Amino acid sequence: MAKKFPILQATTPEGVAIDIIECSKPRVKRILKGNNAVQKLLASLPAKDIQAYRGRVKPKKTCKRPSYYNAVLIQSRGTLGQPCDWCASKPNNGPFLDCRSASGFFGGSCANCKWRDRASKCSHVEPKKAKVDETSAVDKDKE
Ligand SMILES: [Zn+2]
Ligand SMILES: [Zn+2]
Repeated sequence: MAKKFPILQATTPEGVAIDIIECSKPRVKRILKGNNAVQKLLASLPAKDIQAYRGRVKPKKTCKRPSYYNAVLIQSRGTLGQPCDWCASKPNNGPFLDCRSASGFFGGSCANCKWRDRASKCSHVEPKKAKVDETSAVDKDKE
């Protein structure tokens, strides 16, 4: 039932094996168009293709699990800034190569923290907004 989006395999100039998700392509936009109001709004913003470490973003799982889905939306619509504390302390642990956040969405959590459902712990999130933050990840989908 979950739709899959295509993934391209590539290698960075440094030789790191990555997957490219072409979020800017209409075909992928149609699949990742959002299910609820927040996701739809985020999905309506201009999208960029995103890079993930090879094999970490699985299309089917991503479409089913809200935290994964939201993380892909954040990464493709968000902006690059200073890495959050988690991304800075554990480089290569998240699925995405760089730390991006979408201002005004999910408390401003970066996509790598959102991915593993730790949005409220992301150092980019303002403490007062942290409570609202996990609401779209209440789905009980198990790993
Ligand atoms: Zn981060
Ligand atoms: Zn973070």
